[in-house]
Amino acid sequence: MIDTHCGGVRGGWDNLKAIIPGGSSVPLLPREICDDVLMDFDALKEVRSGLGTAAVIVMDKSTDIVRAISRISYFYKHESCGQCTPCREGTGWMWRVLERMAEGNSTTAEIDKLLEVSTQIEGHTICALGDAAAWPVQGLIRHFRGEIEERINQYREDRGGVSMASVAAE
Ligand code: SF4
Repeated sequence: MIDTHCGGVRGGWDNLKAIIPGGSSVPLLPREICDDVLMDFDALKEVRSGLGTAAVIVMDKSTDIVRAISRISYFYKHESCGQCTPCREGTGWMWRVLERMAEGNSTTAEIDKLLEVSTQIEGHTICALGDAAAWPVQGLIRHFRGEIEERINQYREDRGGVSMASVAAE
């Protein structure tokens, strides 16, 4: 589908970093999974993603994957109507943490905290926007945790080994 209708992956398939197969709300899939998985409901569910709206987003290796998910997170924060607490408070919290993580200004413990908070939003809201906000974050941590950690280490190294000061996420 990507080759026939969209002109393929920019730079070729070897340059593929990840695909979001079902619109921005479903967890992304890294290249290793994209190589084999079928684009259908059951196969995508098996790899813990989903067909969703089937609006495919293809990201090549030039994509800053943490920044990309942070941008998606901002969208869901913006769209939250504020009616239920986990979504109203959680979407903004996740976005603010991801913004810092995109810089590397975070800690590995905070990655776990972010994942935990996302599971507190998922399934605890009136409408599906809560799930939609949580899943992209979960996909990022599931498949690109190493990249987040590298960024944190680089940030620390650039500042002479000084860890991030505790930052209240509000
Ligand atoms: S989950 Fe839906 S109803 Fe609840 S605050 Fe978010 S957008 Fe509003």
